[in-house]
Amino acid sequence: MLEPLQLNKKVGQSMTKTIYLQLIGDLEMVKWKGLLLQNQAGPKAMFGLWLCLHGRMMTANRLIKWGLPANPKCVLCINCDEDRDHLFAMCPYGIQV
Ligand SMILES: [Zn+2]
Repeated sequence: MLEPLQLNKKVGQSMTKTIYLQLIGDLEMVKWKGLLLQNQAGPKAMFGLWLCLHGRMMTANRLIKWGLPANPKCVLCINCDEDRDHLFAMCPYGIQV
């Protein structure tokens, strides 16, 4: 049998927020929340940003991890292995663009 939920509701806080905060517990808030939720970009760009932030981009390292044939080198600089961090933060060619 389920135990009744003990709610720690603060004054002025909605019941939905109270339950949500209690369910997520002590999970750390993500730093990029505002980048994703307060952005006026189109749906396609927002989906691409979501994929990037969650590490779900189709990069060479992920394709190889799934057993698919792929060139592990970055298609832009051809010097380093291609992964999300390299493509969006460390690739010398990408930084110039
Ligand atoms: Zn590169």
